[in-house]
Amino acid sequence: MDEELSEGLVNPVQEPAPPRSLKELIDRVTGRGLPAVIEAGDAGLAEVLPFPFMALVGQLEMKVALMLTLINPAVGGVLLIGPRGTGKTTAVRSLVDLLPEVPRSLCHYGCMPEDIELDGMDAVCPDCAQKYARGEALARMDRTRMVELPLNATLTDLVGGIDERAVLHDRMRLRRGILAHADQNVLYIDEVNLLGDELVDAILDAAAQGIYTVRRGMLAATYRARFVLFGSMNPEEGRLRPQIMDRFGLRLIVRGLQNPDDRYEAYQRSIAYRRNPRLLISQYARETQIAREDIQNARDNLPFTTIPPQVSRLGLDLIQKLGIDSLRAEISLFEAARAYAVADGRLEVNPNDLRQVAPLALRLRRSQFMQDFFAERQLEEEEISNTIEAVYQRG
Ligand SMILES: [Zn+2]
Repeated sequence: MDEELSEGLVNPVQEPAPPRSLKELIDRVTGRGLPAVIEAGDAGLAEVLPFPFMALVGQLEMKVALMLTLINPAVGGVLLIGPRGTGKTTAVRSLVDLLPEVPRSLCHYGCMPEDIELDGMDAVCPDCAQKYARGEALARMDRTRMVELPLNATLTDLVGGIDERAVLHDRMRLRRGILAHADQNVLYIDEVNLLGDELVDAILDAAAQGIYTVRRGMLAATYRARFVLFGSMNPEEGRLRPQIMDRFGLRLIVRGLQNPDDRYEAYQRSIAYRRNPRLLISQYARETQIAREDIQNARDNLPFTTIPPQVSRLGLDLIQKLGIDSLRAEISLFEAARAYAVADGRLEVNPNDLRQVAPLALRLRRSQFMQDFFAERQLEEEEISNTIEAVYQRG
């Protein structure tokens, strides 16, 4: 494997699959395949020198979708669908350096000062209530993290369970699972279509509520789980249940790079990264810094960004004409359009913003199954009433 990437043997004409080597490369440097480590606030394997986002070649729609979601989490996450070796995983992991800052609880249970402001002292744990009374901070600003769900994760890894270390000291305590670690963070699930139903259900419940409760014997704890969901999948390896498909705001079909020059450029950058990741990262440090500041600014201005009625009517018209049932279509379409406008430095959404994000928000929303289902039911209804008619006429 190493030989095929080493100098001298590389022939771009005979080796036309640089994204595949890139993926393998990133997989290796990010330690994929190592056992999942879910300890002390760090469940992610993705923070080991990721490939710089700004050095990714092409894939404009993918970059736009990922950045819109960082600007406005209400977009509802991104699902990347495509064959192996098209850079889906690389792109998601590369976002680490662009992630904005969020206020983060200093407490095991995720208590926040706004809980007290909204619902009083009973809304936080006793420790935090005391800290608040003493005027101590319950949260601090911290970079959003990328938490990756390993495919071999168990339900206990995901939601949490008995803290074995505490048991050794004769104490019973629950420890947080991946979902709690994902609070105010990005949760990334590679090969999301291969995830067990039990895990998918737990993720969907937590995502819908923003909190979840774990019970183990006498112990129970409720954790926050407000996260941005990124998923990727290869459709050759199995379909995704409609419930989880519906949960992703933006949907992307990721193809390999089509232009040979782009492919060669991607290949060269992957080689440069492999030789010296720090050097490549430093070459893109300035662009990365600018992009991170732009995302943070856009986030700060998002609350002031509005959609005029004539633009929202366009969107509603589009959704109706396409025959889409799920209300998540409106949410993703309009929230993505707001992010697009504010990223462009405007506080009002125009028709072009909507147009740019519409394919992302609306594709894969129509269900062939539901259409067939409704058609079949109608046939059955007719058959039943005809039979009733016939039987009763005979009588
Ligand atoms: Zn607390």
